[in-house]
Amino acid sequence: MPTQLNNASIDAILSQIKPEIRQMGGYITPPQGDVPAKLNQNENPFDFPQSWKEEIFQTMQSISWTRYPANGAPEIRALLAKRFNLTPDQVMLGNGSNQLLYTIVLAIIGSGDTLLMTPPSFSLFSEVATLYQANLVQVQLNSDFSLNEEEVLKAAKDAKLILLCSPNNPTGNEIPISFLETLLGSTSGIVMWDEAYAEFSEQSATGLIDQYPNLIISRTFSKAFGLAGLRIGYFLGNARLIAELQKANLPYNLNLFSEQVCKTLLSNDAWVQKHVQLIKDERETLYQNMLALKGVTVYPSQANFLLCKVDNGPVVIKALQNSGILVRNMGAYPLLENHFRVTIGKPEENALFLESMKQILMSN
Ligand code: PMP
Repeated sequence: MPTQLNNASIDAILSQIKPEIRQMGGYITPPQGDVPAKLNQNENPFDFPQSWKEEIFQTMQSISWTRYPANGAPEIRALLAKRFNLTPDQVMLGNGSNQLLYTIVLAIIGSGDTLLMTPPSFSLFSEVATLYQANLVQVQLNSDFSLNEEEVLKAAKDAKLILLCSPNNPTGNEIPISFLETLLGSTSGIVMWDEAYAEFSEQSATGLIDQYPNLIISRTFSKAFGLAGLRIGYFLGNARLIAELQKANLPYNLNLFSEQVCKTLLSNDAWVQKHVQLIKDERETLYQNMLALKGVTVYPSQANFLLCKVDNGPVVIKALQNSGILVRNMGAYPLLENHFRVTIGKPEENALFLESMKQILMSN
């Protein structure tokens, strides 16, 4: 007879888990669900046309689900390579770019190896660094959210991996490409340059790939392409470096369904571009309207969100939530006390957010 587990033995079992993981809080998922304005996860509010969904369902019905997908999603790789004027071996697919972040850290960082990042930035960077027992070196942004370039260059000399995000989540500003070039030329560390929001901005580092073998660009279908629910991301970089990273990547990480959707979207660029432009126009309108409000600081953004500061962040965020508007509290990040991040939604969601802000600020 197997012995029953009791509380003492589960404690013994949990002690097998690495201490650095037991000490972690885990990735915090913000509230989800159906509300009048869900503006807290930088998602794209424009869903796929129904007729495309039906076509994809028909294709899915006509193919067998019993077989594994082609490893590495060669068809998508080829389509993406063409889009960026690269070769397919310079592209690597992931189950969301988050999954590729795990892969690159796994491939490069052994216990105690230096990983450099520049907070406030994407929160998952430091979580994954902790998981892989990196020596995490953090060079905080300047108070205007620009990079402390001198300190980054100094720290990069000893770093095996440098994680930078441009446009940066949550501050929305960009790091100049000229600085990236200086950095790439001055370190033998690998720079992962996260361009999750690049389609909403005017710059990209893709033109540097052939010149700098230590550059990996991370991109996603979750933002401009509106496929957060499907989990598709990709890396672009030097073919030999990509081949090494591929060894550490999860096999079969795209499934037959996400491949079909991805293919449809990649051949309908006009639809994507139209919505990206709409989001950029809405961003400008909301930014100008927020600038006119007393009691709010709003920062320029090249992404699909705006970072805002108010006198009492938690009170304003709670009041917005009570009106059915979800925004993301950034108050726990360095430099960002009383700040929140609002995603650019559909025009009616943005109008509702603005109207509620006016009322909340008047009553406070
Ligand atoms: N990078 C950044 C900077 C992000 O903000 C996000 C999403 N919050 C991601 C990557 C994750 O993207 P994906 O959905 O492709 O995993």
